[in-house]
Amino acid sequence: MRGLVAAGVYVPRFRLETDELERAWGTNRAAGVERKAVPAADEDSLTMAIAAARRALEDAPLERGAIETVAAATTTPPLEEGDFVSRLVRALDLPAAVATATATQHTAAGAEALARALDADGPALVAVADCPEGTPADADHPFGAAGAAFVIDDDAVVPVVDVAWHSDETSGIRFRERGDRGVDSLGITTYERDAVREAVTAAVSSLDVDAADAVGAAVHQRDGSFPYRITNELSLSSESVATGTVADHIGDVGAATVPIGLLSALDEVGDDLTVAGFFGGGSAAALACEGSLSVRGVTDIESAETIDYSTYLRERGYIVDGEVAGGGANVSVPNWQRGLDRRYRLVAGACPNCGGVTFPPDGACQECHARVEFDEFEAPRTGTIRAVTVIGRGGAPPEFASLQQRDGAYAVAIVSLETDYGSVTLPAQIADADPQSVAVGNTVVATVRRIYTQEGVPRYGVKFEPVADTD
Ligand SMILES: [Zn+2]
Repeated sequence: MRGLVAAGVYVPRFRLETDELERAWGTNRAAGVERKAVPAADEDSLTMAIAAARRALEDAPLERGAIETVAAATTTPPLEEGDFVSRLVRALDLPAAVATATATQHTAAGAEALARALDADGPALVAVADCPEGTPADADHPFGAAGAAFVIDDDAVVPVVDVAWHSDETSGIRFRERGDRGVDSLGITTYERDAVREAVTAAVSSLDVDAADAVGAAVHQRDGSFPYRITNELSLSSESVATGTVADHIGDVGAATVPIGLLSALDEVGDDLTVAGFFGGGSAAALACEGSLSVRGVTDIESAETIDYSTYLRERGYIVDGEVAGGGANVSVPNWQRGLDRRYRLVAGACPNCGGVTFPPDGACQECHARVEFDEFEAPRTGTIRAVTVIGRGGAPPEFASLQQRDGAYAVAIVSLETDYGSVTLPAQIADADPQSVAVGNTVVATVRRIYTQEGVPRYGVKFEPVADTD
């Protein structure tokens, strides 16, 4: 039966405690959220979708080239929807011929993407990531950031036994739409809660399974207590609802909250029934599946690496303006486009003449200086720092100034990657690290992040992040 063969979760490392928010504002607009995940200044829903999808694909029993459908979902695309999924395909080196779909504009978008992949033929990838924003004084309080990815195929480890929908007009309710800054997060009325409860209850009740049998459940959650309040007409146990409730630890992650809750439940519970209940834009969807799955990244939900409120405001870009002055290294869009394989996937060239390696694989061979057609291959994503420097405030090239304002000083390193053809060395920014703690000899791993925005287009590429010692 068709369903999940692998999955992955990505949650940014930093957390903001709701207590810290309350100290800053004297009020708490995030009841039911203990702490929330905070994206770094160079992360957005695309980079989180890539990170989650990479984890899912690495655990999937198939080659990336076998994927036939890619369905993405987010309410906060950093680019036009078409650009979002096409960059996902490019960054993950999926076949250019995949069928693509993007669901957006409502918090049930994850269900739409999953349904699309379940209806398709052949292996499919679903990536859902979100980082909603609102006015810092109030609407923003519960909003977190994270991503989830699913590899869907026949002969599933976790078969999806049924999907059900319920659609009804709920006049006067505006659940978060694209571009709105958190319209649905404040002062939810009894009327609104009843509308969500009725829709989710109807969808879950239409499933071909008895919800009373569920050992796991992930239900629409704007905070950690919401799922319990909207499931009281269903026969779900509170123990099962607890397995899929994650908003108390990562915040309201828009379209990604229920997908992450579902994976958290599947990772935690045994071989029985798990249900998911989605809501958004007046529609509810329900999904029933059976079995358990070990999901990489799920333990990140529990991270407790906290930051203070002023750091949060900077990372989120609330206290800097995002515009970067002109000048700096202008890389034209066509030039940037030609370099995508090396920027996302570290594609290097092996010389057919001398067997040496050249990175990037342009021009003459760096070993024998012959003009050759390189045999392209992907360098390993894990490497070693050979030299490092810290770019302090004010020292960054203009195109990086916005990132620096938000993220503070950062480290730039020369990283070497060992390949079968010799070492590739390249300069790269170091992400997610105190720049003073980065040292020669450290092991680092590649991650796709936002590099900068130029001509209004965000540019993405590889940075490296430190690998924690596993001793
Ligand atoms: Zn050569």
